[in-house]
Amino acid sequence: MTRETTDILISGGGVAGLTAAAAFGSSGFSVICVDPTPPVTTMEAEGADLRTTAFLQPSIPVLAAAGLWDRLAPHAAALQIMRIVDAGGELPEPRIVKEFDATEISDHPFGWNLPNWLLRHEMVERLAELPNVSFRPGVAATRLLTRDSEALVTLSNGTRIAARMVVAADGRASAMREALGIPVRTMRYGQKALAFAVSHPVPHRNVSTEIHRSGGPFTLVPLPDRNGLPCSAIVWMETGPNIQRLAALPPAEFEAEMNTRSCHILGPLTLISRRTVWPIISQIADRMSGERTALLAEAAHVVPPIGAQGLNMSLADLKALLDLAEADRYSLGSAKMLDAYHRQRHNEIQIRVTGIDALNRASMMGAQGLRDLRATALNALYSVAPVRKTLMRTGLGLR
Ligand SMILES: Cc1cc2nc3c(=O)[nH]c(=O)nc-3n(C[C@H](O)[C@H](O)[C@H](O)COP(=O)(O)OP(=O)(O)OC[C@H]3O[C@@H](n4cnc5c(N)ncnc54)[C@H](O)[C@@H]3O)c2cc1C
Repeated sequence: MTRETTDILISGGGVAGLTAAAAFGSSGFSVICVDPTPPVTTMEAEGADLRTTAFLQPSIPVLAAAGLWDRLAPHAAALQIMRIVDAGGELPEPRIVKEFDATEISDHPFGWNLPNWLLRHEMVERLAELPNVSFRPGVAATRLLTRDSEALVTLSNGTRIAARMVVAADGRASAMREALGIPVRTMRYGQKALAFAVSHPVPHRNVSTEIHRSGGPFTLVPLPDRNGLPCSAIVWMETGPNIQRLAALPPAEFEAEMNTRSCHILGPLTLISRRTVWPIISQIADRMSGERTALLAEAAHVVPPIGAQGLNMSLADLKALLDLAEADRYSLGSAKMLDAYHRQRHNEIQIRVTGIDALNRASMMGAQGLRDLRATALNALYSVAPVRKTLMRTGLGLR
């Protein structure tokens, strides 16, 4: 049996795990990153992740330090305005439209939006530049044994890795988290999301639009123009059976329903990608760490895709972990370091998971009276400038 040693073993090469590998590698740590599923790095390929990620302002320095932002910036669409539309009246049409403008709180846009398949492509290329990072697609982490001085991870190809620290970035059903026996609390909504891309005649003007009626938000996020046409990524959340029905509709019938639901806010939308279905839950692990192991991203927390929080929270995890590792390189993976990581991140994550859970439940409301209450609350929150600015800063993760 082959045995290797490394500073950090990252279980999971999703967007979070790949970013962590680039970040720790750029900082000079030796890294092995494994994932049983090789990343799909083109839009057309079977299994491509057609979601997009809106990286909010605080995530950009994290990506830059990992040597990623210079590669990603040329492909990104800026998000200057977050528009919230309440279409919860009797007819599916906008009855309240509120625009949160980034210029009110900053000289920069709220964030930048990028396709997930492209993120994987650029991240894999970045890892290839780092001689101290070994990315091993097609290999799973199957077993974890920890002791005070190190973690021993067995891989699906039989290799054993001795690491000073394991980063569990292996998703919502994390094998590493389960091996440590860290429990999770899960909230289910009976809801799914449909992710796809559209073109439209009306330019998006770098405005991201969230339309609330019932079942969950319908969100349009700017993409760069394609073939001279304005384009947006859409996440449409609805009850599970409704999403399955929408995903199976022939394109023309789907477009008709999508145009009604979008309230024609960007003119008639044309479907330009496949439709992919994503389950929606909220979940939080009881702890952010175990012996010699840090939980990162969806291994630690899952939220519905509202306000672009999920991966941005994960990059805040990564920043906290990397800062602690760089502050005392000798103590990488020690109980002291990992306890500090838990303390820095867990409260903040609990607050965000609770807040997003409440927003999602408000957006799902079907009863007319509750939808009217939701509209009143949006009006009230928006109209007080300090409250509006605090909401924007909180959404960005700025203090
Ligand atoms: C529709 C939708 C839209 C979203 N939009 C946004 C947005 O705009 N902004 C934002 O910040 N967030 C957004 N999110 C959230 C974001 O997509 C997720 O936070 C992110 O993709 C999760 O990444 P991850 O790497 O933690 O998990 P995953 O992508 O699930 O990656 C986990 C990886 O671990 C691997 N793995 C599993 N088991 C093992 C094992 N035993 N050993 C090794 N590897 C293993 C898997 O193969 C997988 O590749 C959205 C989510 C959804 C559903």
